Amino acid sequence: MHVHVMDSDHPQRFGWRVWHLDGARLSPPIHRGKMRFGARVVESVCQHRTDPLALAPDCNCGIYFEDADRAFQRWCIEVDRVGADNVAVTFGVAVGDVAADPVLPDDAFRSPRWAILAILLPPASPAAGPVRKRYDANVHMKTVSPTAMQYVEDAVRADLRRTPSPEFFETLRAEPAHAQDWHVMDRSPERFGWCLWRLHPDPPALSVLESPREIACRRTSSGRLYFEDEGGPGLIYHTSGFYCARQLGVMAQAYSDAGWSDVDGLFAVTYGIADGAIATIDGTDGHRSRRHFPGVMCIPPSHEGLKPAMERDWGMGAVPALSTYVFHDLEKLMRTKLAHMSDDDLRRTLKR
Ligand SMILES: [Zn+2]
Repeated sequence: MHVHVMDSDHPQRFGWRVWHLDGARLSPPIHRGKMRFGARVVESVCQHRTDPLALAPDCNCGIYFEDADRAFQRWCIEVDRVGADNVAVTFGVAVGDVAADPVLPDDAFRSPRWAILAILLPPASPAAGPVRKRYDANVHMKTVSPTAMQYVEDAVRADLRRTPSPEFFETLRAEPAHAQDWHVMDRSPERFGWCLWRLHPDPPALSVLESPREIACRRTSSGRLYFEDEGGPGLIYHTSGFYCARQLGVMAQAYSDAGWSDVDGLFAVTYGIADGAIATIDGTDGHRSRRHFPGVMCIPPSHEGLKPAMERDWGMGAVPALSTYVFHDLEKLMRTKLAHMSDDDLRRTLKR
C-alpha cells in the first residue's frame, strides 16, 4: 500500500515558519545572514558540521520550524511589530536530520535544511505574484488563522498524494543553495556579531565579563574605534542577537545569584565586525576574535543618561535598550547600511 509522504517518515518533519517579507524575499526575523537559499530550500550556515544535511552535536544551528499553533502565535507577534503586509508564513518540510528545539522541545524542531512547500499571505497581498515566482511554491491568500493554515496543509497533502517518498526527498537534497544576494553579511556571517560587556557608568567604560584583563580601546588611522585583546584568548561574541540576548539573561541570573542588586544595569553590548582569525567555542554558539570593530552599542534603559557622553566619546550610536527585538532591528539596519560593501571595502574597514 502506498503511504503518503507526509506520513512516511519522521512525524515532525512537516511544519511552519514565519518570515518577514522584504519585497519579494522571505527574510528570517532572526538569524539574518545565517542562511543560504535555493529555489525552495533554506539551509543554515553552521561552522560546526561537515555534512550539510547533518546537525552538529555541539551547537543549536539549524532552520527552526514549529507546529501550526505556535507559528500562528508567532505570526501575531511579528504582525504587531512590522504589520501584516510584511509577514509571511510558510508550510514546509525538514530535509536531513531533525532534532527538537532545545528551548521548546515539544513544539519546535530544527533541521539543517528546510523546503518551502506552500506560502500563506493575507488576501490581496501585492507580494503574492513575485513570491510565487521566486520560491516556485503555491501561494495561498487567506486571512491568516489556524483554519487557513489547516487548509494549506490539506492542499499540500492533496498535491503530494502520489509523490513517492524517496524521490521527494532526493530532489530537495539535491537542490543547490547559495547565500542570498551575496551580501557581505552572508559571505562572512561569522564576522558579524555581538560582544557582551560589563558597563561601568562613572566614567563610562566597558570591560570583559571573563577573567579581569585590560582590553585596549584604539582607533584606526581613519579614526575608527576598535577593541583589542592583546595576548588574551580573544573577545567572545555571538553571531546572532538571539544568542546574545540569551547570554545576557544567563549573566544577569549569575550576578543576581551572586548577590548583586540592579543586575539589569550591569551590562552593555556592541554589534560589529570581528577582525583576524576567528575560533568557534565548542559546546556554545560563541566565537572568539582578537579584535572587534563595533558599529553600534546598546546600553541599559536605566543608564539612558550615558547616551550623549558615549556617543560623543566613542563615535557610534548608543541605543538605551537591551532586547532581542532591538538587536534584530539593529542587525537589519546594519544589513541595509552595508548593502553595497565589497570584500575589499570590508578589508579596508578593518585596516589599522
Ligand atoms: Zn553550528
